[in-house]
Amino acid sequence: MKIGVIGGGQLGRMLALAGTPLGMNFAFLDPAPDACAAPLGEHLRADYGDQNHLRQLADEVDLVTFEFESVPAETVAFLSQFVPVYPSAEALRIARDRWFEKSMFKDLGIPTPAFADIQSQADLDNAVASIGLPAVLKTRTLGYDGKGQKVLRSQADVVDTFAELGSVPCLLEGFVPFSGEVSLVAVRARDGETRFYPLVHNTHESGILRLSVASSEHPLQALAEDYAGRVLEKLDYVGVLAFEFFEVDGGLKANEIAPRVHNSGHWTIEGAECSQFENHLRAVAGLPLGSTRKVGESAMLNFIGEVPAVDKVVAIDDCHLHHYGKAFKVGRKVGHATLRCADTATLEQKIQQVEALIAG
Ligand code: AMP
Repeated sequence: MKIGVIGGGQLGRMLALAGTPLGMNFAFLDPAPDACAAPLGEHLRADYGDQNHLRQLADEVDLVTFEFESVPAETVAFLSQFVPVYPSAEALRIARDRWFEKSMFKDLGIPTPAFADIQSQADLDNAVASIGLPAVLKTRTLGYDGKGQKVLRSQADVVDTFAELGSVPCLLEGFVPFSGEVSLVAVRARDGETRFYPLVHNTHESGILRLSVASSEHPLQALAEDYAGRVLEKLDYVGVLAFEFFEVDGGLKANEIAPRVHNSGHWTIEGAECSQFENHLRAVAGLPLGSTRKVGESAMLNFIGEVPAVDKVVAIDDCHLHHYGKAFKVGRKVGHATLRCADTATLEQKIQQVEALIAG
């Protein structure tokens, strides 16, 4: 079976690494000459709106999936005429726009921060008056890793920030005084079967994920599964979906969903019976889902900007290096390490060892 992937970054690369043993081949559509998934399949180097290359991709593959959600709606609509596309155009339409996404959460009875659609400075002034400060202003689309958003702390921020973000449609959210951030990676098959990985506790720095620790029997697991299950059903979703939550007052508030494999699920490569990448491919290909059971205690640390010396990383027992083969650049995710240990005390110790390498 040949899978077409829109986007050829590290998520595409790890999909190919998981799918190759299943007998799958891959074609990546990505305009970047140095797309890091390219060595693992065919690289169609073209813009996402290039209909000749989209048609070529559709002719060559059995189905198409995505490694990022900001794919133009027209690209999805065009491809869908010729080849099955998972997840659906509707799932992408909702997940790529924070207003549609939060409105869906609200309709499904899933708690969120207070939020308002912002189309103008006047909208922002009114929304700040009702939601209050601090608050977070986020562009409705195209934001990632903390980009396209700003915390508003004082009235001075209210005056400047809408223009600073480009005077584009935004969402204002009440600032959540969370005690933690967790994410749930879920997978839903074509026949509707749904499985969930254990909740993951995430630590961010400057808006970028640094550390994910998979939990054992988290008290909010069932609640998170209930909320994610509602979304998956509503969207008749096929594939992996990640759901990010704020932990607050002993409950959960929904932050956002990602309609794809997710950075907070990278630990599953070594830390779960079947990884998020393999399960995404199983789901979209119509194969039975694999077990989401955690094997051992597991965590993932991102390498941002550069990968520490390979010999030092692999010298740590229980540590698995994933080097994305990308050029090193400040703020760019260039690799990660998965730790899988027998117990939490060992895991804690190994996290510190990897952190020491990152600190140099
Ligand atoms: P996002 O791109 O929406 O995931 O936001 C990136 C990070 O900003 C989150 O992981 C949080 O740490 C922080 N953040 C986003 N929205 C809020 C909010 N409403 N209240 C507090 N912190 C937030």
